[in-house]
Amino acid sequence: MYTYHMEAILLTDILTDIFSGSARSDILIKGDRIARIAPAGTLRGSGEVPSGTRTVDCAGKAAVPGFVNMHTHAAMSLMRGIQEDVQFTKWIDNIWKIESRLDSDFVYWGTKAAVLEMIMTGTTTFNDQYWFSPAAHRAAVEMGIRPVISYVVLDKNNEEEARRQMDQCERMYAESLSWKDGSMFAMAFHAIYSVSEKMILWTSDFARKHSLKLHIHLSETSGEVKDCREAHGGLTPVEYLDRLGVLDENVIAAHSLWLTDNDIDILGRRRVNCVHNINSNAKLASGYRFLYNELRDAGANVCIGTDGCASSNNLDMLEAMKTSALFQKAWRMDSAAMPLDELLSAATGNGAKALGMDTGRIEEGALADILIVDTRNTFFLSPGSFLANFVYSAHSDCIDSVICGGRFVMEHREVAGREEILEGARKVLKQITV
Ligand SMILES: [Zn+2]
Repeated sequence: MYTYHMEAILLTDILTDIFSGSARSDILIKGDRIARIAPAGTLRGSGEVPSGTRTVDCAGKAAVPGFVNMHTHAAMSLMRGIQEDVQFTKWIDNIWKIESRLDSDFVYWGTKAAVLEMIMTGTTTFNDQYWFSPAAHRAAVEMGIRPVISYVVLDKNNEEEARRQMDQCERMYAESLSWKDGSMFAMAFHAIYSVSEKMILWTSDFARKHSLKLHIHLSETSGEVKDCREAHGGLTPVEYLDRLGVLDENVIAAHSLWLTDNDIDILGRRRVNCVHNINSNAKLASGYRFLYNELRDAGANVCIGTDGCASSNNLDMLEAMKTSALFQKAWRMDSAAMPLDELLSAATGNGAKALGMDTGRIEEGALADILIVDTRNTFFLSPGSFLANFVYSAHSDCIDSVICGGRFVMEHREVAGREEILEGARKVLKQITV
C-alpha cells in the first residue's frame, strides 16, 4: 500500500543528462520525494544522507521520469485480440455487449494485470476510465502506482440509468474523500454520442463543484463529427461542448483527432488537455493525422496515452511515444516533427500538468517517480543521445527497476505478486469468452 513513509534511497552514479550529455548524478530520495540531486560521487558519506539510507549502485544505468499514461481503460487488458480487423462502430457495439457481462472481480484482476504491465513498461501514473472503478482503485493502489480513477457517466439517453449513475457517483465521490494513497478521483463522461446533454452538463457541473478533472473521449472518428453536425445544427463536437460551457483546463480530451481550425482555436483558448492515442487510432482506422503542432501552438496541452488493450493491445508508453513520433514525421513529411524533448514531455510532464500532480520530472522536490534504465545492451552501443536510443532503438524491457512515490515497485524486472496476478486474471477471463 502507498502510505506516507520516510525511508531514504540513494541512487549513485546514474545518468541524468538524458538528452545529450553524459552527466552522472547521485539522487537522494527521502519519503516520497526527490530530496537532492548532486554530481556523482558527492553525496555518499556526506552529512546529507540519513543513516539507514539504502544505497543502490546505478553505474551503467540512466534515470527517466516515470511515464504518465493519460488515457486508458486498464481492465480491458483482458480483452486483447478479441476484436481484430473490425471497424470502430462495430467494434464499440461488440465491446459494450461484452462489458454488460463484467463484474467488479473482472475489473479488479484486469486492472491488476494492466498495472503489472504498466510497471514493467515504466508507467507510474495512469488516467483510467472504466466500470467498477472502486475495484480498479484497489488494484492499482495495492501495487503501488498512482491511478486517476474516474466515475464514468454513460446513460445512452436513458433517464432511469442517468438517475442510477448520479446516485452512484455521489456515493463514490464521498468515498474517495477518505483516500489517503496518492490516487485521484475524477469525473468522466464517455462521449457526446453515448451521453445525453443533460448528463454531460450534470457531469461537468459536478466536476467543477468539487474541483475534479473531467476525462472524456472527443472527436475520435470522422463519423462522430458528421453525426454531431447533423444533430446539433452544424456544430462539431468541440463547438458543441464549448457551447455547453464544458471545455476548460480541467478537461482531459482523449483522441481529439478530427478537428477543424476553429476546434483547434477553441481547444487552445480553453487550455484543454488533448491526449494522443496513436496505436488505437491507427488500428481502428479512425485516422492518424493528429494535429500535434497546431494544438501545441494554439495553447492546448498535448499528452500521450495508450487507450485500452481492446484497441491498442498493450499499455507500453515507450512504444506509444515511438509510434506517435513516426506518424507525425511521416504524414507531415517533416523529419523534425515531434522532436524528442517534446515527445518525452508529452509522455511525462504534460500529463502531470494536466492532472496537477507533482510528477513527470526528475528534480529536487518532485515526487520520486523514476525509471532506472539499463544501458548495458546493444541498443545503447552508440554515441547518440540516451533518449534517442531509448525511444527509437530500445524496448521497454531495458527498464530495470521502477520507483513510484519513493518505493521500488519493480526491482531487476521482478514485480511482487506476479504469479498470483496471472492466476487471478486467468480465472475471470471466462466472463468474456467470445
Ligand atoms: Zn478510450
